[in-house]
Amino acid sequence: MTVPLNILVIEDNEQNRYLLTFLLQQRGHQVSVAVDGLSGIHMAQTVSPDLILLDIQLPAMHGYDVAAALRRCDSLRQVPIVAVTSYAMPGDREKALESGCDGYIEKPIDPETFVSEVETYCAASGVNVRPGESS
Ligand code: MN
Repeated sequence: MTVPLNILVIEDNEQNRYLLTFLLQQRGHQVSVAVDGLSGIHMAQTVSPDLILLDIQLPAMHGYDVAAALRRCDSLRQVPIVAVTSYAMPGDREKALESGCDGYIEKPIDPETFVSEVETYCAASGVNVRPGESS
């Protein structure tokens, strides 16, 4: 039994948006989607997500800049941001963390482990994912 999380997905690729949304909803979570950084920042302030999944390769505004902007919002300071990117170059993880992300999931998404990883990031940041299982 999983407590539903409210997840914001910021992703410009339609197929990836569909996959992430499908996997999360299949496990009972609520998903909001934004197709670029600016609308993602606005939506984050509107929907107060439990966690933000942030594509790094975005048009107009790079994911690292989106993360930094999200971190400057008082209301979003505690919300975990997890970068999702296929550009796993040396140093990417460090750059993601420096820009304000809490973690990093590499594409291609593994449907077997993806939702568990998201839930783990939520639990690590204090979001109550599975009441009764933690001490
Ligand atoms: Mn992208």
